[in-house]
Amino acid sequence: MFTSFHKLRAHLMSTKRDYYEILGVTKSASSEDIRRAYREMALKFHPDRVPAEQKKEAEERFKEVSEAYAVLSDSAKRDLYDKYGHSGIDQKYAQEDIFKGADFSSIFREMGGGFGAGGSIFEEIFGDLGFDISGRHQPKGQSARRRGRDLQIAIDISLEEAAQGFEKIITVPRYETCATCSGTGAKPGTKRSTCPQCKGSGRTVVSNGFFQLAQTCSRCAGEGAIIQSPCPDCRGEGRVKVVKKIKVKIPAGVDTGSQLRVRQEGEAGINSRGDLYVVIEIRPHNIFERHNNDIATSVNISLSKAVLGGEVEVPSLEGRLMMKIPPGTQCGKTFRLKGKGIPDLHSRDIGDELVKVNIDIPAKLTGQQRQLMEEFARLSGEDLRVKDSFTEKIKKSFR
Ligand SMILES: [Zn+2]
Ligand SMILES: [Zn+2]
Repeated sequence: MFTSFHKLRAHLMSTKRDYYEILGVTKSASSEDIRRAYREMALKFHPDRVPAEQKKEAEERFKEVSEAYAVLSDSAKRDLYDKYGHSGIDQKYAQEDIFKGADFSSIFREMGGGFGAGGSIFEEIFGDLGFDISGRHQPKGQSARRRGRDLQIAIDISLEEAAQGFEKIITVPRYETCATCSGTGAKPGTKRSTCPQCKGSGRTVVSNGFFQLAQTCSRCAGEGAIIQSPCPDCRGEGRVKVVKKIKVKIPAGVDTGSQLRVRQEGEAGINSRGDLYVVIEIRPHNIFERHNNDIATSVNISLSKAVLGGEVEVPSLEGRLMMKIPPGTQCGKTFRLKGKGIPDLHSRDIGDELVKVNIDIPAKLTGQQRQLMEEFARLSGEDLRVKDSFTEKIKKSFR
């Protein structure tokens, strides 16, 4: 008995790295240290964050750190591991049970966006391990396909469209349940049959004297059933790739980076569809600049209008409108047109339009215009030959 125990322990130790080492923490690390270390590692090895050619390796590392975290974050499992090492854990838990009860979801929520819409990558990887994010145990394969994957589609829209809100038809390439076999993967008229190797349980038990190790059945990949004659249209996959047109309601006020969730328009799974996430990008505008819900632009007015006041036509999101220019308007003055900006996405507020006024100084004057300007200068008591510079003004004040 003891010989086989030590042999197997030695074997497991040689193939599996130390959990503390994997997370880069000491044996006396607090649960907060472990949580922090895992969070860091998960960010580093998250398969969504690495170049394609490193994905496979990152995925392995991600699983490795996740397993280390699952054990070390659970006091009972950690205790077992401290006393007996990997063999203690492997003796008591099947591979997927190691992950049971560990708190991944709050960490992934903290890590926030950029992690695949709705944690799809998480579902995918942990589905592979036979573990469902909600903590329910699922046989391998089935969990990954139970709910379809979430999809993400980026669309770019104009500022006007963002201000008004509109409906858009977008095309989404996605998996649909195969109509020929209704998603079973089996050729019509044939049935899936119970897997002879695991007798439908999806798991096989490997016995090694002292130990019983449960493994996902290799014959049926954990599904408990095998397809005798695969469906010709989907080659046994139960789903086919199609390009689907979907009408999406874009609410007024969206901005670059806004994500709209369209429920049940992701990929088909066995039981339900995943969700579709539409990510908005606003195209740069040639007249307006957006600052949150405000928009900014500029207009030119004539010198006489700046001095005497008047009205000027300004562009707005709703078309052209007239803006009053009070007499004596300085160059660079900004006027605020209330409620002419972009509606707030989450309230009934509407932003403003900010109009900066530039003054056109006439470069060419007719003889009469020149005379009048000179007259104007004279009436203002201005000597046009005196340099109107800062140093001249200083000199004057010391005279
Ligand atoms: Zn089919
Ligand atoms: Zn099987």
